[in-house]
Amino acid sequence: RSNAEKFEFQAEVSRLMDIIINSLYSNKDIFLRELISNASDALDKIRFLSLTDKEILGEGDNTKLEIQIKLDKDKRILSIRDRGIGMTKEDLVKNLGTIAKSGTSAFVEKMQTSGDLNLIGQFGVGFYSVYLVADYVEVISKHNDDKQYVWESKADGAFAISEDTWNEPLGRGTEIRLHLRDEAGEYLEESKLKELVKKYSEFINFPIYIWASKEVDVEVPADEDESSDEEESSESSSSEEETEDEEKKSKTKTIKETTYEWDLLNDVKAVWLRNPKEVTDEEYTKFYHSLTKDFSDEKPLAWSHFTAEGDVEFKALLFVPPKAPHDLYESYYNANKSNLKLYVRRVFISDEFDELLPKYLNFLKGLVDSDTLPLNVSREMLQQHSSLKTIKKKLIRKALDMIRRIAEEDPDESSDKDNKDVEKSTDNDEKRGQYAKFWNEFGKSIKLGIIEDATNRNRLAKLLRFESTKSDGKFTSLDQYISRMKSGQKDIFYLTGTSKEQLEKSPFLEQLKKKNFEVIFFTDPVDEYLMQYLMDYEDKKFQNVSKEGLKLGKDSKDKELKESFKELTKWWKSSLASENVDDVKISNRLDNTPCVVVTSKYGWTSNMERIMQSQTL
Ligand code: ADP
Ligand code: MG
Repeated sequence: RSNAEKFEFQAEVSRLMDIIINSLYSNKDIFLRELISNASDALDKIRFLSLTDKEILGEGDNTKLEIQIKLDKDKRILSIRDRGIGMTKEDLVKNLGTIAKSGTSAFVEKMQTSGDLNLIGQFGVGFYSVYLVADYVEVISKHNDDKQYVWESKADGAFAISEDTWNEPLGRGTEIRLHLRDEAGEYLEESKLKELVKKYSEFINFPIYIWASKEVDVEVPADEDESSDEEESSESSSSEEETEDEEKKSKTKTIKETTYEWDLLNDVKAVWLRNPKEVTDEEYTKFYHSLTKDFSDEKPLAWSHFTAEGDVEFKALLFVPPKAPHDLYESYYNANKSNLKLYVRRVFISDEFDELLPKYLNFLKGLVDSDTLPLNVSREMLQQHSSLKTIKKKLIRKALDMIRRIAEEDPDESSDKDNKDVEKSTDNDEKRGQYAKFWNEFGKSIKLGIIEDATNRNRLAKLLRFESTKSDGKFTSLDQYISRMKSGQKDIFYLTGTSKEQLEKSPFLEQLKKKNFEVIFFTDPVDEYLMQYLMDYEDKKFQNVSKEGLKLGKDSKDKELKESFKELTKWWKSSLASENVDDVKISNRLDNTPCVVVTSKYGWTSNMERIMQSQTL
């Protein structure tokens, strides 16, 4: 084309496209859901803008916020069209080729190892999946602020953009035309596309139509040679009015003809507006997949679907994902990235709303739809709305309840589970170990919560799991610890270190083990910080057994021993430089080991010293 301007894809994008084109990945279907998801995002954007600017939608067909799928079997073109926000020329250049997102290289890297192409949408590069099925793609787009443009590429390292002077004007929005590869002919079948939309795009909140063929009966004049007959017969009966109708019939015949009309493919009632009793587990799971673009086969670990009433009304649907994203804690203190989507009266507002959940619950996915928040204000103003505090408080409460339920439904992996729960259904069997799974993925978040959220500290402490001298290789909880405490035991004993194996050998445990006290093992670096915040639980104090202050009950010989070794301890203390030790004492915490270095009550444990040294800040 004479007016085309040529661009080169950014290098990483080009690599990504090569990978997609040459992929042997068999599930090519995914491109459709990525395109529909983009169309839906574009519609969300224009609808959001229209809240504060009514004019922006224009008039006539432009006001229809919908997605249309069309097929051209002869030309082998599949097109997906939306009336969303559209793209300016600059948007086309940036979004579809020259700016690599952070996910681009992450995805390329993944694909070179054990990556699953199915997850492309999670990395923010879903658009390029079109090249799984097409060898030539055109993107026609019209944004309110610009003219209509065509972006086109054969995925050969370059793309071109031209002002569109030949296609029909779109009004507003984007049409993606896929020129299908030879082997992708199945995507020209209506039935295939209908099936795919049902399967993957069931939860899109805008109507999706397909230009569908219909066989209809039409009456046409009978054949010519017959019609000459009819002419004769009509002449003979022209005088009789009653027979005229019958006469007409005999002059026509019925044939099958193909016509086209827009078929609606989805039911746009949002899942979260439905009655939880009527939504099946499978629907929740599928909704979770579409919400998170995580199309792996894994189910969420739990969900909570509820309506909050009172001053602030909202509906919410929260999910605990089956797995933590790889970068969950990487940018923990810099980024405040919530994974909840905010809707106000069914209208999508934002998925970057930090005010909905505290940082430590960033691993949750889901959405909030509020009728109380105002619709026609800017995002910034909404961010300061007083209702948000209430929403946040309720969300935290519900989230912690949901997590507690995973623990309750999981019969704690006790060793006698094999004979005790025979009558339990298979469904429950499947759930078994869910909390252990949760703990492995998100335990650190709970610990960070104990550090950060004083209000919910006790609730969070209930969710803590750890191993101990008596946990027998399994996770145990503080409640379980307390239930096993010896009579007269006042404190909860724990020890920190690098691993359970290392701690098992610690001389600090000698007497405690002998006297049958249980000691918790904390082996995560964050545990040292955690225990600076977690002072007590259910009126019991925590005692680090490597610190001074350990009380194991009085021994009658204590006083006697103290007296007889007085000279020795005195000499010892004076021979060690005073900056090295604070005191030398007779103690009853050891059994075989002759002596041990104990940390003062407010000092750092040796484990903490180690952690601090390993942190090169
Ligand atoms: P993501 O959707 O995760 O941002 P994609 O690779 O699917 O990543 O899309 C890249 C970008 O291209 C989108 O962020 C959007 O800006 C733009 N885009 C894609 N499809 C459309 C569309 N139908 N309408 C408007 N913009 C679109
Ligand atoms: Mg996308």
